[in-house]
Amino acid sequence: MTSQNETLFARAQRTIPGGVNSPVRAFRSVGGTPRFFVRGCGSRLTDADGREYIDYVGSWGPAIVGHAHPAVIEAVQRAAACGLSFGAPTEAEIELAELLCDMLPSLDLVRLVSSGTEATMSAIRLARGFTGRDDIIKFEGCYHGHADSLLVKAGSGLLTFGNPSSGGVPADFAKHTLVLDYNNLTQLEDSFAKAADRIAAVIIEPVVGNMNLIQPTPQFLRRLRDLCTQHGALLIYDEVMTGFRVGPQGAQGLHGIRPDLTTLGKVIGGGMPVGAFGGRRDVMQQIAPLGPVYQAGTLSGNPVAVAAGIATLKLVREPGFHARLEAATGRLVDGLARAGREVGVDFCAQSVGGMFGIYFRDGLPTTYGEVMESNRELFNRFFHSMLDRGVYFAPSAFEAGFVSAEHSDADIDQTVAHARAVFVDLSKG
Ligand SMILES: *Cc1c(COP(=O)(O)O)cnc(C)c1O
Repeated sequence: MTSQNETLFARAQRTIPGGVNSPVRAFRSVGGTPRFFVRGCGSRLTDADGREYIDYVGSWGPAIVGHAHPAVIEAVQRAAACGLSFGAPTEAEIELAELLCDMLPSLDLVRLVSSGTEATMSAIRLARGFTGRDDIIKFEGCYHGHADSLLVKAGSGLLTFGNPSSGGVPADFAKHTLVLDYNNLTQLEDSFAKAADRIAAVIIEPVVGNMNLIQPTPQFLRRLRDLCTQHGALLIYDEVMTGFRVGPQGAQGLHGIRPDLTTLGKVIGGGMPVGAFGGRRDVMQQIAPLGPVYQAGTLSGNPVAVAAGIATLKLVREPGFHARLEAATGRLVDGLARAGREVGVDFCAQSVGGMFGIYFRDGLPTTYGEVMESNRELFNRFFHSMLDRGVYFAPSAFEAGFVSAEHSDADIDQTVAHARAVFVDLSKG
């Protein structure tokens, strides 16, 4: 029997580069055939062969209230019936902006866009416009979307400006991006000592979810805030992933740090294309039409997308939402870690709010170097065995995982039982 997934993947590759519209979906790092999904409901996905999976990708974060939540679907249908887009203001945009400013005290003003990439790209331009400086700092392993100045990796040697991490990015752009090691205080201090008057902004994932899950040390975040303030560089928190995923005020609420600008996406669209950037009033007032920094979008604040975002955020704001999400995610990682220990595989796991990391290594990683040392081959075998058993984890050892409010204790216990059986197989070599 041929699999519909295989048939569809072969067909997709005839008209779409690699058969996918975003590279990680192609399963290149784990091998095999991507699943083509036809339906999602709550914690479950159904693929083109009619197989059901417990989903721990959640569309890479947006599906925080589960797939096809009735309140979100109803809001989308109601908005769609009134017209899909006007290219003119609507009341729903105000409502979403008010919600965001209310949820994040660091937002005085916020601008809606259609993706996380647009949000970070615009925030960087704004920071450059506001400060009149050209250089930015980012951290190796953090992902901020695919704008030119952010597709940059560390150059050779410390404190050198970055090299493009993608074809098509001019070295002339990359040289304005300084790439440092996450959680490395000394490097941060040195960079500010050498280049402070050129640094427009530091952009950071305040809890990293794009090199698997990495937690910041409190000293690192506090010192970063102080250095930016002291030297007039803007601190940009890229909370596209962490925003309302790790807690009711994102990562900035968890650590009690107020960034100058924040970028959002994923959860705030509830599965529809919505991003946002916002922050200090004096900075945001530099954006057109108030100021000289240009930024625009035909579909920005799209009424159907905004309706999904509002409905999702209203569910996320219900009392106890994050406590329940955090408990469910904790149950998953505790169960997985215990199973790994009891079976005797080099495995560990951790979570922050509703996101989690699993690592085939001994001990939780705190740096890019450490996470890169985890055992990819074991991860890939684990991934495929879990997939065969109906559990869909991210198809890469270097991505975070996501739990939704619809994941039941039974879903999680079933996942842990499958993982234990897979660990036993892995431990036999
Ligand atoms: C996903 C992500 C982005 C990019 O968002 P897109 O909507 O995919 O463009 C940017 N920053 C972070 C931290 C992300 O996780």
